[in-house]
Amino acid sequence: MNDLRYQVDYLTAMNKKLSDSEKMYRMVCDMSSCAYLYYSYKDGQITLLGNWQEFFPMDIRHIQDLERIFEYIEEEDAERLGAVIHSETPSTEKISCECKLRGKKRWLECETVVMPDEEGALASKVIKFRDISRFKQQNDELTYMAYYDMLTGLYNRNYFVGRLTDWLEKAKKEQSVVSVMFIDIDDFRKVNDGMGMIMGDELIQAFGQFLRELCSDYVMVSHFNSDTYCIAIYDPCGTRSVDAIYKTIQERIAKPFVLTGHKEIEITICVGVAEYPESADNAIALINNAEIVLFKAKSIGSNEIQYFDAPIIHDFLHHVQIENMLKGAMSQNQFLLFYQPQYDVASGKLRGVEALIRWRDENGKLISPAEFIPIAEKNGSIVSIGAWVVEEAFRTCAEWRDKYGVRLIMSINISAIQYKSKNFVSNVISLMEKYEITPNEIEFEITESVLIDDFSEVIEKMNLLREYGIRVSLDDFGTGFSSLSYLKGLPIDTLKIDKSFIDTVITDDSTRIITESIVSMVKRLGFETVAEGVETEAQYEYLRDIQCDNIEGFYLGRPMPKDEVEQILTAQI
Ligand code: C2E
Ligand code: MG
Ligand code: MG
Repeated sequence: MNDLRYQVDYLTAMNKKLSDSEKMYRMVCDMSSCAYLYYSYKDGQITLLGNWQEFFPMDIRHIQDLERIFEYIEEEDAERLGAVIHSETPSTEKISCECKLRGKKRWLECETVVMPDEEGALASKVIKFRDISRFKQQNDELTYMAYYDMLTGLYNRNYFVGRLTDWLEKAKKEQSVVSVMFIDIDDFRKVNDGMGMIMGDELIQAFGQFLRELCSDYVMVSHFNSDTYCIAIYDPCGTRSVDAIYKTIQERIAKPFVLTGHKEIEITICVGVAEYPESADNAIALINNAEIVLFKAKSIGSNEIQYFDAPIIHDFLHHVQIENMLKGAMSQNQFLLFYQPQYDVASGKLRGVEALIRWRDENGKLISPAEFIPIAEKNGSIVSIGAWVVEEAFRTCAEWRDKYGVRLIMSINISAIQYKSKNFVSNVISLMEKYEITPNEIEFEITESVLIDDFSEVIEKMNLLREYGIRVSLDDFGTGFSSLSYLKGLPIDTLKIDKSFIDTVITDDSTRIITESIVSMVKRLGFETVAEGVETEAQYEYLRDIQCDNIEGFYLGRPMPKDEVEQILTAQI
């Protein structure tokens, strides 16, 4: 009796435990966002758990009913899903696939596990569905971001380069041409600065959207960054030739873009064009070359198109090479000064010297200042190079004064960029004190062409220097503005007549007339004259006859190292 009671109690307890555990599993399944189908092969019983109704609003009592879920699945996914849910291979490994709910933006992942019993016969099957829409969406966004530019919806740079590489491979096989147009909006910074970055972005977007209309199987457009875009054209011809596309763009930009608040903005663009196979054999080089010729277009002005031209690329690369080499030149003491004598015509005596920089690179090769000074001016390194020139020239000036007791005029070329640097005047003055230089022994040469673009700040500093007693000379006169009328307002002491006049002064009547008027007018304005680049006796005699004050040129002496000037000084004493 006790035994029976014990067994009843035991079975009741077991039953409770089982029902508790079933409740627990059911709760867990219901709380998860997944749907489960449990199928027992032994008795054909089906249990649905979790979110089943949300994915498939239908009941399943019999395993055949499972076929109805295909009504809810996109047709293209049916086969894959069928293979997963119909699997009858017992394995501890689950098999899975992804499928999309029909007509909805919902993605499900389906997993199936088939369990064998101890004898290896099929025992049960669990099919699980999980909503993976969010993951899919994020994945789609990531894919989009990998290919497209968020602002314009155009291809981004990386994807463009990848596709262009494919195009070039195809073009190689088909012996086709691929053109690349690199586009840059002119003065975009002014838009950003003047109207704000939000408007700037809107403009980039609006222009990008217009460029998108040009896309086809043969034309692809990419937004590179900020205001630059790249167009690639496969097999350019007819309406998809570079010229035709350029014309279409020009027609569009002739009209303003209308931005938020009815703000209208007109743009112009510069374009660089390079072509495969003529200008490069890979995508990166092709794009680079198009960009380099774009720089050239921009240097000419706004609204320019520049086609690939090998010398442009060569010059650019040379420029970059010089720029890189310049970085170490100063610390490695690669600069030196040469001095070219200037003679006073009337007395035949040395008036002074012009300090001319020389650069001996690490291989001992001399690089002309005409080549590297413009580059140093562009990247700003002229400020430190120029400061070195000034100090070196002052040191030499002091040395010659102490050694030979001579007072010569030391002419030093100064770039406009140097004038614009903040401490230029104060640095010059403190150096002058350091070397005890008398100000009127120093003459700063400024080339005429800079005064045209950028007057006021330079003039202001020239005035300051002159107040201090330093002489100022206008270099290369005749190469720039060439107007005598503007001379009267300039704070200068000396005017250097450019070599281009001297070259033809003997042979060309009109040059002679101009030179004579320059010399006489300049004299009347109270400036000294120096003729530059005098190479022959005939030129020298002619200039002496028209009473040009001073002569500088190969005829009387080339630029020379310091010790050679010292030989002249020794002979003169
Ligand atoms: P620049 O100041 O007009 O100097 C005259 C240039 O003409 C020098 O060239 C000189 O060697 C050359 N020259 C002088 N006489 C004759 C001649 O009779 N025939 C010929 N064919 N050439 C003659 P360089 O030394 O190559 O300098 C070129 C330019 O580089 C200079 O023109 C000047 O603008 C710039 N430069 C040179 N040194 C400096 C410097 O220290 N600082 C700055 N900012 N510019 C410099
Ligand atoms: Mg000069
Ligand atoms: Mg000159």
